[in-house]
Amino acid sequence: MKVKVAILGCSGRMGRNLIQAAHEHENIDLVGGSVRASSSFVGFDLGELAGIGAIGLTASTELNQLTSADVFIDFTSIEATLENIAWCKKHNKALVIGTTGFSAEQISLIKTASDLMPIVLAPNTSVGVNLMFKLLEVTAKAIGDYTDIEIFEAHHRFKKDAPSGTAVKMGQVIADTLGRDLNKCAVYGREGITGERDKETIGFATVRAGDIVGEHTAFFADLGERIEITHKASSRMTFALGAMRAAFWLSEADNGFYDMQDVLGLK
Ligand code: NAD
Repeated sequence: MKVKVAILGCSGRMGRNLIQAAHEHENIDLVGGSVRASSSFVGFDLGELAGIGAIGLTASTELNQLTSADVFIDFTSIEATLENIAWCKKHNKALVIGTTGFSAEQISLIKTASDLMPIVLAPNTSVGVNLMFKLLEVTAKAIGDYTDIEIFEAHHRFKKDAPSGTAVKMGQVIADTLGRDLNKCAVYGREGITGERDKETIGFATVRAGDIVGEHTAFFADLGERIEITHKASSRMTFALGAMRAAFWLSEADNGFYDMQDVLGLK
C-alpha cells in the first residue's frame, strides 16, 4: 500500500532531504508540499519542487491545494507548525511534526489537537537517537544515583533553538526514570561546578558551530568512573528517512498523540 504524503517546508535544509527520502521510500507517494513564498531557493532545484506540486504559501488556508495527501510531514517553524496543525485537524489529516522548540504550553495544545487527529511529535526522527532514549532509560534505572548527570549537544550555527529538542527529551527520559521534575532540576549553560553540588540537577551544555549536523552525549559520572552515551548524526538523511517511517506508520494509526518510540515499537 502506498501512502500519499505532503511535505511542509520543502525548501529548508530538512525539506530537501525529505523530498529525496520520500522518492527513495517504496511505500510513499509524494503528492505535494509547501514552501514559504519568500524563500530564495538558493541551491535548490526548482524543477523538482514543481515536479511534486509544491506551492508558494503564506497562510495555512492555501494548504487546501494539498487535500489529496493523507499524511503531512512538517519541518518548518513553530508558528507555521501551529497553523498547520489547525488546518490538518479541520481536514482530518495525520501529521508528523519534526519542528522543534515548542514550549510546554504549546505541547499541551498539540496534545489537545491529537484528540481529533493522529499526530507524531518527534523532535528527533533518527532511529539511532530513539534507540539512545531507550538506553538512557536503562542506564538511569541502573546508575541514576551517580552524582553527575550532564547532557551535551552540538549543532550547526543556523540552529535556532537551544538546547536542542533532542537534548531536552534526553533530560526528560532521565528525569522521568528517576522520578524528578525536569522543570525543577534542569540547569542550563552550566560552565563548571565549584563546591557542593545539588545531586538532583541535570545539567545542559550547548555548542553552535559550523555545519555540525547533530551530536548528543549524556554523561553519568561519579568519582572513579563515568558512562557516556553518544549519538552523532553525519547526514540529515537519517532524520528524513525516520520521518518517512513515521508517516507510513501514522497512516494506519487512530487519532492520538504519538512519538518515535511508538513508531519504532520501543515502548
Ligand atoms: P530551515 O530553516 O532550513 O527550513 C525551514 C523551512 O520552512 C524554510 O525553508 C522556511 O522557508 C520554511 N517555512 C517556514 N514557514 C513556512 C510555511 N508557513 N510554509 C512552508 N514553509 C515554511 O530549517 P531546518 O534545518 O530544515 O529545520 C526545520 C525544523 O526542523 C527546525 O525546527 C529544526 O530544529 C527541526 N529539525 C528537526 C529534526 C528532527 O529529527 N525532528 C531534524 C532536523 C531539524
